[in-house]
Amino acid sequence: MFSMSPSIRLTRLAFVTGLLSQLVLGVTINDVFIVKEGTENGGCDAFADAITQAFEDSIKLADIAAAGIATTDDKTREYLDTFFNIKPGEDTSTAAGYVSQVKAILDNSRTLPSGKPWLFCDSTWVEEQAWDSVVKNADGTPQEDGQTVEEKYPETEEHKTEFRPFWSSDLSQYISLEPGDYCSTRGNQGATQDLIAPNTVTLCMNNFPPTQASGLAQIAPVAATGVSIKDRQANSLTLFHEMFHLSSGSAITPDHSYKLVDITNFDTDTAVQNPESYSFYALAFEAKKQKG
Ligand SMILES: [Zn+2]
Repeated sequence: MFSMSPSIRLTRLAFVTGLLSQLVLGVTINDVFIVKEGTENGGCDAFADAITQAFEDSIKLADIAAAGIATTDDKTREYLDTFFNIKPGEDTSTAAGYVSQVKAILDNSRTLPSGKPWLFCDSTWVEEQAWDSVVKNADGTPQEDGQTVEEKYPETEEHKTEFRPFWSSDLSQYISLEPGDYCSTRGNQGATQDLIAPNTVTLCMNNFPPTQASGLAQIAPVAATGVSIKDRQANSLTLFHEMFHLSSGSAITPDHSYKLVDITNFDTDTAVQNPESYSFYALAFEAKKQKG
């Protein structure tokens, strides 16, 4: 009943963006997410500028992807072929549908069934518990009847070996996750949990490489051909990736691969499910626009 789909972002890429689509006027990250306050237990106060930029970049990237998918000239359509194996003239509605789901959340025109999602800036918003620990009340105190977590939430021995119950005081509920602190693992950059209510997005802000561009505007201009897009990266793209898990659900947006070499060889059915395919596509499409 619980799960967190990890998003180990091994590669990031981006090109500087030129004239971008307009931001949706008035919509802020606080309209779309319950942003955890404070500086502890996943609080985002120390990352206010970075998450605002990530949100605004996500809107831009979604607009870029939507515009790219909607184009009809054969030259531009080559990018859809490269990243989604959609040939000129072939149907684009499935890819367009995933992007429109992301846009609807970002422009606040659609509310998730489980309500406004949370945004956390590290994974310490959950506390690992033992399966035989006493179940907590909503306020975090142990229940007086002494019932244990494994009694209340019966799981297979295999599950209990592989996962641990984690308590969230913000959500007042348990989530079953792999042991350990997710963001303490180097390389983990984001995770979306869409099987409990409300949904959550966790950005491992401290894992973002300090030498990497923070957002689209900070990426070095594309000065020459021959620069691989996998070497162009920006921290803000993690949120754009997570928006696909959040808006369509992790069950139908599995992370088939983060690697460019895999992504460019996927069949269409696989590519349209894979969030990272949209990240590569949006950035490559934008770079193409700049180079003309
Ligand atoms: Zn992912």
